[in-house]
Amino acid sequence: MSKQEIVTPSFGDTVVTTRIKSVLNWARKYSLWPMPFGTACCAIEFMGAVSSAFDLSRFGAEVVRFSPRQSDLLMVMGTINYKQAPILKKIYEQMCEPKWVVAVGACASSGGFYNNYSVLQGIDEVIPVDIYVPGCPPRPEQILDALVKLQKKIDPTAFVDGLNNTYQYDLK
Ligand code: SF4
Repeated sequence: MSKQEIVTPSFGDTVVTTRIKSVLNWARKYSLWPMPFGTACCAIEFMGAVSSAFDLSRFGAEVVRFSPRQSDLLMVMGTINYKQAPILKKIYEQMCEPKWVVAVGACASSGGFYNNYSVLQGIDEVIPVDIYVPGCPPRPEQILDALVKLQKKIDPTAFVDGLNNTYQYDLK
């Protein structure tokens, strides 16, 4: 047996090499645990997205949690007024790292048509937002599309790089 054969054994296709951050982000993007912060009608659309008709579990994000410490995806759905804003911020701060935020609908994204003294004109005034979903209300398919876009955002990024970057929802 030659020296070359001894030091280079053949593993065939039984070995896969990768980087640890790639494996972590692959696991993260297919196991998002959403926390719904629903204050108005857009939350009903999220219920539709989770239901069997649209089946959010196809994307690995069906484990809805109502505890911020068990969640890494904050779904904000509905009008947020100034009294609620500190509560929303506190819930965001209590969530696990890394964490992501989706603003579902016109109210969460920009205050919607409630342009008055009591309504926050977009949740990005108090917390960072990764994906904005337009519509009043958006369809459940748009919520699924936002999830897929978020998965694409998580995929190529490292642990730190993926935080607090804004991804504008593509209307095409
Ligand atoms: S965007 Fe429209 S549907 Fe959604 S919470 Fe606001 S008013 Fe309701």
